[in-house]
Amino acid sequence: MAKQYGGIRELRPDTDTYNDWGGSSVQAAADFPRNCLGRADRSFSQGLQCQQINSVMALLSMEDAAFVVHSPLGCAGCCSMANDWFRVGQLHRGSFALRNARILVTNLDQRDVILGGEAKLRRALRLAWERYSPKLIFVFTSCASGIIGDDVDAVSAEVNEEFPETLIVPIHCEGFKSKVCASGYDAAFIAITKYILKDEQRGDTIPGLLNLFAPPTVSYVDQLEIERILGEIGITCNYIPFYSSPDKIRKIPRAQASTAICKVFADEFMKELERLYGIPYSHTIMPIGSRNTDRWLLGVAKIMGKEEEARAYIARERAAIEPLVECLRRRLEGKTVFITGGTGRTFAAGALADDFGMKLIGMQTPTYDKEIQEDVEQLNSLHGDFVLDVANMMPFEQVNLLKKLKPDVFIGVPIWAARLGLPSTHVLDIKRPTLGYRNLVYLGQKIAAQIENPGYNKNISRYATLPYKESWYVDDPFKFIRREGKK
Ligand code: SF4
Repeated sequence: MAKQYGGIRELRPDTDTYNDWGGSSVQAAADFPRNCLGRADRSFSQGLQCQQINSVMALLSMEDAAFVVHSPLGCAGCCSMANDWFRVGQLHRGSFALRNARILVTNLDQRDVILGGEAKLRRALRLAWERYSPKLIFVFTSCASGIIGDDVDAVSAEVNEEFPETLIVPIHCEGFKSKVCASGYDAAFIAITKYILKDEQRGDTIPGLLNLFAPPTVSYVDQLEIERILGEIGITCNYIPFYSSPDKIRKIPRAQASTAICKVFADEFMKELERLYGIPYSHTIMPIGSRNTDRWLLGVAKIMGKEEEARAYIARERAAIEPLVECLRRRLEGKTVFITGGTGRTFAAGALADDFGMKLIGMQTPTYDKEIQEDVEQLNSLHGDFVLDVANMMPFEQVNLLKKLKPDVFIGVPIWAARLGLPSTHVLDIKRPTLGYRNLVYLGQKIAAQIENPGYNKNISRYATLPYKESWYVDDPFKFIRREGKK
């Protein structure tokens, strides 16, 4: 019997997952299939993104829901960022009376760590119900609640009996369980399957309906572009879970097929939907750049029986944007680029650089696994060898590499690159366009504008310094990555 996925990416049976590696991309592509990449760990680490915030962000915009974070106060620090995204999303969707997400934190302290935090959790759940009477209350666990062994499921079930019209959904996203932050998305989907979909049947399939799973980092304008592209070939979308609702989730089993916008989002959930309901899915690459948008769309078209329509549409769309892309190519040809971001975006954006004739020279990405192998091979064939840093965050390695490689432009979250005075833009922007054919033009214009007008970051670099000694910049960026069996 197939083993059910438990939500920890490192423990998936069908692939090794690496998050501590650095070196040549060609070497990585050669070594991974032979199991020679080398299990490693960092002897110095600057802190990882925790999976809990990904669970929170995936669900925060759910209609008629409240959220209880069962943790010390600090764990909920990133909720303010998630709330900002939620507010921006409301604005972009036409709302002018913006509201905050309904988040409560149990504020576990030293006393609770010794005596247990279940009483605080009960109180917070009741408070969430008294204040908001929501249809759903999501409860997020933390390292502290996991270590002290609070029985979050039992407390949730017990309190749920007091107000049965609300559904309380515990999500097991303790940060210590995984170094791969995408595990947090998996934890959210496992809870959706267990608590919201549990009694749902396949029912009558709705022809032409596609489950479109999208991470919260996808902007509304990107959502519209992807829905427009799919609409051109007669596909309608059940867009999940951002700005979603329990009704839309219950509709999931009736879709003809599933896909995700990001390669490391909902992939395990789609396998589960296939197992439970027989829903086929397409899992290719994020639609950034024309090459990857083609690949993504053809993957969807194949399982939806729309390949002919898709090929005709791609030819039309490519012809329409080609003059604009050609213009951008003249401005960007030969420029070197360093890319960083989430795993799905980074590899997809690497191929985007080729649309404009740019050369990829370095990349920092959180994970390397079987799914990524074909993307690395694609990038090696497009750009040749480049420096690959497999790291969940680790800005000290990033700045070391940037100082050495000196790219013409940096694509990614630019906090550190800007302090080095490098022109920068990013593809992880919930406020602006990134995906699909038309947004490719927007992205290219942004990259070109940054290279041609670098003054802002140059000024930042004059006044905002980085905390590293000069000696670090000449050192080996990967000196703290210790392979098993090596000192
Ligand atoms: S859940 Fe754990 S890893 Fe995540 S923020 Fe809290 S203490 Fe840190």
